Amino acid sequence: MRKALLFVIVVSITVAGLAGLVSKTLAVTYPGYTNTPMLPSGKWHVHDPNRPKAAIVTAGTLFSHGAPAPSDAIVLFNGTDLSSWEGDKGPPQWTLREDYMEVKPHTGYIHTKEKFGDFQLHVEFAEPTDLNDPGNSGVFLQGIYELQILDSDDNPVYSDGACGSIYGQSPPLVNACKKPGQWQTFDIIFEAARWNGNHEFVRPAIVTVFQNGVLIHYKQPILGPTGHRKLGNYKKELPATAPLALQDHGDPVRFRNIWIRRIQEEEKP
Ligand code: MG
Repeated sequence: MRKALLFVIVVSITVAGLAGLVSKTLAVTYPGYTNTPMLPSGKWHVHDPNRPKAAIVTAGTLFSHGAPAPSDAIVLFNGTDLSSWEGDKGPPQWTLREDYMEVKPHTGYIHTKEKFGDFQLHVEFAEPTDLNDPGNSGVFLQGIYELQILDSDDNPVYSDGACGSIYGQSPPLVNACKKPGQWQTFDIIFEAARWNGNHEFVRPAIVTVFQNGVLIHYKQPILGPTGHRKLGNYKKELPATAPLALQDHGDPVRFRNIWIRRIQEEEKP
């Protein structure tokens, strides 16, 4: 009897020890901030290190990779030139290679010459393979709302800064990232924020996003223009249409096959 009791105690202590070890292992701390504005949910700060990370979903090998542009799309980049884009100070300085362009670090964001309101957007990107490079870039919807691009395959970061997040606001529903060097796709449906004829705010911008064919945002309201450690708002009326922008965050992220289709509400049959 005593031997059995001793066995139970030893097993209990061992299990408790292992549980402690596991909980310590899981309690990884991520960089982030808690002295930033509180998000409207009242649960998390902007870039809160304690906000749960998106669960990993392994995307299929291919989804819309290399998708040809539909007939009514505006091709923004097909691998040959940057004629649809401009830089912060004149012509874009990003590097053209084979069928893609690459951020030339510290030369500035690039912006489309055309402006867009509501749209469907296809973008392909690839992270740098240098493991020391976080591969930070971003797709700036209407130039002000960042859909984050970052190496999030194995790169601890606050959850609202992970790849596919609406930066500083909404982490992706799941982490569907591919590894650095692999081409990834964003298929985005964006509706601009609305003001009425009296300049009264009607509703926020709304976005739905597939990353590599996996839904990562569904009709997600955007809280306002995004920013580091900031929470935007709609106190100031924003233009109905604005250029799309791609971010130069100092990392040589690659882009290819970018096309966009305007969604014209008044043209709905
Ligand atoms: Mg970014």
